[in-house]
Amino acid sequence: MDLFEYQARDLFEAHGVPVLAGIVAHTPEEAKAAAEKIGGVVVVKAQVKVGGRGKAGGVKVAKTPEEAHRYASDILGMDIKGHTVHTVMIAQGADIAEEYYFSVLLDRSNRNYLAMCSVEGGVEIELLAVERPEALARVAVDPIVGIDQAKADEIVATAKFAPELRADVARTILKLWDVFVKEDATLVEVNPLVKTGAGEIIALDGKVTLDENAYFRQEGHAVLEDQDAADPLEAKAKENDLNYVKLDGEVGIIGNGAGLVMSTLDVVAYAGEAHGNVKPANFLDIGGGASASVMAAGLDVILNDTQVKSVFVNVFGGITSCDAVANGIVKALEILGDKENKPLVVRLDGNNVEEGRRILAEANHPMVTLADTMDEGADKAAQLAYDAR
Ligand code: GDP
Ligand code: MG
Repeated sequence: MDLFEYQARDLFEAHGVPVLAGIVAHTPEEAKAAAEKIGGVVVVKAQVKVGGRGKAGGVKVAKTPEEAHRYASDILGMDIKGHTVHTVMIAQGADIAEEYYFSVLLDRSNRNYLAMCSVEGGVEIELLAVERPEALARVAVDPIVGIDQAKADEIVATAKFAPELRADVARTILKLWDVFVKEDATLVEVNPLVKTGAGEIIALDGKVTLDENAYFRQEGHAVLEDQDAADPLEAKAKENDLNYVKLDGEVGIIGNGAGLVMSTLDVVAYAGEAHGNVKPANFLDIGGGASASVMAAGLDVILNDTQVKSVFVNVFGGITSCDAVANGIVKALEILGDKENKPLVVRLDGNNVEEGRRILAEANHPMVTLADTMDEGADKAAQLAYDAR
């Protein structure tokens, strides 16, 4: 999960990273009040989860509370790369002498962490990385050792900070590493990290990505979720611990195992070409168990998607055998009752498939069609979705 800048600022502050005051505002009036509270020069900053806000006009320096009011009314509602600005942060103005760059991230391709650092930070960092890669120090970080004093010293030396700045910058890097580890982040980026006229090192803009796989041990992270942006169906699936991703098509998909579900999406998309180009409506992996309650919860999410016209249940019986899955489907249909109002195509295969198919045939549910193969099921589901258009 990506955080808003103000949330990153709060995490930084909690871990002792030097930051300036920041107050969130949703209206120009709130912005003005925040500017009065902070006092002096402030910066009105669009809160959107996308880079390049400054260049897009989403970062404005305001000398008075009236100016903060005016800039906030300009910026609120603005569209930045497809993201509408609903919130601004009123930040205490900084007297910037120099702008640097620092980030640490999970480097998946090298199975390692990577720290990047430059004395030439600011809004052109992407350009710098491409045009003058030598000006961006890249230092591998061993996950076991992490960024200790020696590594922080190596980073600031590699980035060629002036000797008198190195100790201060290294101290801030150690604190940012604390944020990275203690908050289970996969990215902590500061751009710009600035030196002020008074010589202080301050993190002026923060970008943090948290690892959702660590939520079980990060109770504080639930409140950071952006409720406004969450898809209501995805939120409902999450409540039921389902791996669900909403897509744009009309054929609902349920399968067990991520690989099987991914290939089901492909097969349905391919079959759809012969039926008015219908497409999969979602990814939903109900996992190994495929119990009645999980099946019912999954079907409930999919049937609530108004775009869905038919559902394809594609299950391979492994440890959970096909008869157990078939009983799960029958019970799920009972649980759902009248809610089951869209045609369902079921393809079962694997362990104890004969008994599974017998159970479904015997139940003889009016909305359920059995398919012998994945291709046949995909074709049938695509056709039913097309017919219901
Ligand atoms: P981004 O464009 O989304 O990365 O937004 P930033 O928060 O990094 O702001 C962009 C640029 O605005 C920075 O690189 C600074 O040059 C400038 N800026 C941000 N805060 C201040 C401030 O307090 N004072 C001044 N003078 N400039 C600022
Ligand atoms: Mg920035």
